[in-house]
Amino acid sequence: MFKKILIANRGEIALRIIRACKEMGIKTVAVHSTADANSLHVRFADESVCIGPPKSTDSYLHVPSIISAAEITDAEAIHPGYGFLAENASFAEICNSTGMRFIGPSPESIKQMGDKARARATAIKAGVPVLPGSDGVVTEENSAIEIAREIGFPVIVKAAAGGGGKGMRVVLEEAEFANAFVMAQTEALAAFGNADVYIEKYLLQPRHIEIQLMADEKGNVVYLGERECSIQRRHQKLIEEAPSVTVDAALRKEMGEMAVAIAKNVKYRNAGTIEFLMDVDRKYYFMEMNTRIQVEHPVTEMVTGIDLVKEQIRVAAGLPLSFTQDQICIRGHSMECRINAEDPVKFTPSPGTITAFNPPGGPGIRVETAAYTQYVIPQYYDSMIAKLVVYADNRDDAIMRMKRALNEFIIEGVKTTIPMHKKILDDPDFQSGNISTKFMERYNNPQK
Ligand code: ADP
Repeated sequence: MFKKILIANRGEIALRIIRACKEMGIKTVAVHSTADANSLHVRFADESVCIGPPKSTDSYLHVPSIISAAEITDAEAIHPGYGFLAENASFAEICNSTGMRFIGPSPESIKQMGDKARARATAIKAGVPVLPGSDGVVTEENSAIEIAREIGFPVIVKAAAGGGGKGMRVVLEEAEFANAFVMAQTEALAAFGNADVYIEKYLLQPRHIEIQLMADEKGNVVYLGERECSIQRRHQKLIEEAPSVTVDAALRKEMGEMAVAIAKNVKYRNAGTIEFLMDVDRKYYFMEMNTRIQVEHPVTEMVTGIDLVKEQIRVAAGLPLSFTQDQICIRGHSMECRINAEDPVKFTPSPGTITAFNPPGGPGIRVETAAYTQYVIPQYYDSMIAKLVVYADNRDDAIMRMKRALNEFIIEGVKTTIPMHKKILDDPDFQSGNISTKFMERYNNPQK
């Protein structure tokens, strides 16, 4: 097993990884920008290295600084967390070539599954259903219109390199297509440095259901059930839960085996997630793969009792998976609310000083956060300040528990999304599980 791991991230996920390392007897190295000198991940790691100024491109995304930090501290492996360098194949390659272990999949898998158009082709090859769409990337406007017409409107134009809910354009009718297509290419180039886009049928009221995978170096791949992430705003997840109300044991097995087939096809190792869209008839379609640990991984941990971050570290060290498919058992219900520091009405970030911070506690509560009283939320990074995770015997109890916990959660000095979460939890459709990715539109438009 590794003796020392460097964590190339910040905030709650850096802390989450440090906690896993401590419980495994592994020493930790935190890296941080000058804006994060007073962060909890710096405080709780065994060592820390300042890697640059606040801007991510000069610090958390600056590969030479991170590699140097690992070298001077004798770290044997690097955990990238999510975001930043987690899905950067060349970073994974540099880690491995400098003799450090990248805790994640191989650079080849990241490349193959990180390009959404290529990932789609891989899913097709593995026999997994996909939505009607273009055969890979489309560059030319006239042929793009042809393809869109053939698929049938509405369609969605997606950046091959997209992520984080960015780089997608929905086109409801043909008249809007040409313009949207060019805009999507321009936006993709500006945001991801890559103008490649592809086209897919747009589902009007889908559910977002994803399967958690874990794979070791020996080729064992196991699925750990699903997460439902349909409560989204601007294609970004707000609430996630496990299991999904629409997925029964038979469907879980079927989707799980589909996800495993994709992973086996690319000789995948470490943690990964296969995202599907599901229509009202419970037909599911591959959407994309995330080749890293995800923000919402705790809900799967709660219902399976498996520590995914520890497992990531174990398999990166060459150990076999510590469980088999037969040993995975989904028990109870878990739900996660992402609490962002932002104006709940205008959705704009709300950086500043947290003047009072009281996280909830009691039975079945897990709070993942790097915030504390007097913590100053930097303006440079994303606005998520806490993940509130609950666990209960069933979904109704989980909702009651979440409501109780949201009411206990005191965060003063900055605006947060807590009021929005309370509203969602009180919504009869949410409570009955009648949800889709369109759920949040009712809050943007009171007529709905
Ligand atoms: P990202 O990588 O940016 O997270 P995804 O491909 O995972 O992008 O899509 C994010 C969200 O966008 C989905 O959860 C869903 O709400 C919406 N979406 C993507 N593709 C489609 C589609 N074909 N039809 C309907 N909604 C879609």
